[in-house]
Amino acid sequence: MKILRTKNAVKSFCLNLQLNKITIGFVPTMGALHQGHLDLVKKAIDNADSVVVSIFVNPTQFNNIEDFEQYPKSLDSDLELLENIGVAAVFIPDNQEIYPDKPALRIDFGSLEQRLEGAFRPGHFNGVGIVVSKLLNIVKPDKAFFGQKDLQQVAVIKRLVLDLSYDVEIIVVPTVRDKDGLALSSRNIRLDPAERKVALILYRMLSYAKSELFNGVAWLDILFMVRHEFSQISDVRLEYFELVHAEDMSPQDSLRVDIPLSICVAAYVGKVRLIDNISINH
Ligand code: AMP
Repeated sequence: MKILRTKNAVKSFCLNLQLNKITIGFVPTMGALHQGHLDLVKKAIDNADSVVVSIFVNPTQFNNIEDFEQYPKSLDSDLELLENIGVAAVFIPDNQEIYPDKPALRIDFGSLEQRLEGAFRPGHFNGVGIVVSKLLNIVKPDKAFFGQKDLQQVAVIKRLVLDLSYDVEIIVVPTVRDKDGLALSSRNIRLDPAERKVALILYRMLSYAKSELFNGVAWLDILFMVRHEFSQISDVRLEYFELVHAEDMSPQDSLRVDIPLSICVAAYVGKVRLIDNISINH
């Protein structure tokens, strides 16, 4: 496995593959890898001849300095996992390599980012859009792989690819969960055992809300119950719990079969902000 630290090294590595008609699958990550990331990598290995993974904790997508500074890092074990699974190259740029200057460009995804993560993390999707654009321009992959865990991010990236005519296929991979339902996240490592238990409320409420929707209960009544459940637990602060169109993120208030629906949630458990979502009918 090649370890590449500069744009030029990645460009020449990838150009060589392209000249030899070897297709490239790309998995961007922020490291602290877990089985969710590895599922993306496995999917990439199954769908492309050669796989490139990037590890870069992107400062421009953090609106909270503490979250950025506390972001978990485990580079040595990340590299071992990627080597064992069969990744061709890992791109580990430093900040200067990606941001030789502060970007003047701002990417505004309009209504796609006005709710959910976009509303609670101002500037987040601008940072995601800029870094993903840069990485796609450097790697020029045939296919790029993203987790359904970050549903709004998937919507934003698909829009970025459409609007800027990137020649890449976006492949979405289902959320990997622990046995008890907690969605894997690099941030889970920051939960103490009690918080880890409390965090199960996210998936429990998503599952509950989904089954109540199918039982014919009105969304507003479900929401009332869910908010009540969250309010009962002192260590948890709910930010949002929304039924949305799974592709354009528009808010919905009833079960429909003609559009793809998901429920998205974000909550703080102690000092750790967690997100999750569940698909309803797609
Ligand atoms: P991150 O390192 O958190 O930026 O995530 C890198 C990629 O892994 C993103 O496309 C995420 O959506 C995806 N990802 C993170 N957690 C999971 C999970 N539990 N299951 C599937 N994909 C995930």
